[in-house]
Amino acid sequence: MSRVVIAAALLLLAAPIASAQYDEPFQAGETPEQVQQRKDMVKWLGESVKGISARTLSAFEAVPRHKFMKTKDQKIAYENKWAGIGYGQTITNPWMVAYMTHLLDIKETDKVLEIGTGSGYQSSILGQLSPNTHTVEVIRPLGERSKAIQDQLGYNTRINHKIGDGYFGWEEKGPFDKIMVTCAADHIPVPLIQQLKPGGLMLIPVGPHFQKGNIYLVTKQEDGSIKRKVVATGTFVPLRRTDISEKKKD
Ligand code: SAH
Repeated sequence: MSRVVIAAALLLLAAPIASAQYDEPFQAGETPEQVQQRKDMVKWLGESVKGISARTLSAFEAVPRHKFMKTKDQKIAYENKWAGIGYGQTITNPWMVAYMTHLLDIKETDKVLEIGTGSGYQSSILGQLSPNTHTVEVIRPLGERSKAIQDQLGYNTRINHKIGDGYFGWEEKGPFDKIMVTCAADHIPVPLIQQLKPGGLMLIPVGPHFQKGNIYLVTKQEDGSIKRKVVATGTFVPLRRTDISEKKKD
C-alpha cells in the first residue's frame, strides 16, 4: 500500500494547472532517446506496479506517450509526471495509468468504456488491450484532438470516440465489461452502474474537486447488486457536466 500512498502524494503535488496554449503543434516522429526512455519507463512500471502482466506492460511499450503531450512537455513524457493538456485538464501520470489499467485486468474480449478521454493516452493503452474500446470526453476540442492523434497512429479501428457528458456513459454501445472513469465524481453515476455487465468491473475516483479522493473498484454481482472497495487515493480533475472550452483555454 505504501507505493499507493507515495503515488498519491505525487499526485497531490500535481495541481491541474496548464500554462501553455492548447493549439501548440504536437511533434511528429520519435527519437532513439524517446524509445529508450519508454523502455526504461516500462521496466520501472514492471517493478513498481505489483503483479502487472507482461501483456499490460506491452501496451505501455507500444504507445508513444510524448505524442499526447504538448511539445514543451515532451521531455518529461517518460517520467512519472502529469502535464497540462489545455482547458485546465491533465494527462495522468504513467504510474496511475498503469495501476488503474492493471486493476481492470483488460481482456482481448472485453468491451471497455473510458470516461474522460483527455489527452487520449489512457484510451490508447486500453485500445492496445481490447479492440472494443470506447471513450467519452465532455470538452469537444480535447476529444477531437485525441481522436486526431489516434487516427495518425492508426489506433482508431479499436477505439470509438464520443463527445458528451460521460455521466450518462454510452448507452447504445453498452453494456461494458470494464469501465474506467478518469475524472473525479462526487458520487458513482447510476447510468454507469447500469451499463456495467454482471461480473463487470469499474474504477472510479470519488471525492471533492481538486482534493485527494478515493478510487473505488466497483464489482457488479450476477444479481445486479454492486460491491465496492477503495483501492487507492488520488487527485483527479473533476467530472464536469458541461463543455467549458469557450471559457477556459489553458
Ligand atoms: N484519461 C485522460 C485523463 C484526462 S483528465 C488521459 O489519459 O489523458 C480527465 C478528463 O475527463 C478531462 O479531459 C475532462 O475534460 C474529462 N471530463 C470531465 N468531466 C467529464 C464528463 N462528464 N464526461 C466526459 N469527460 C469528462
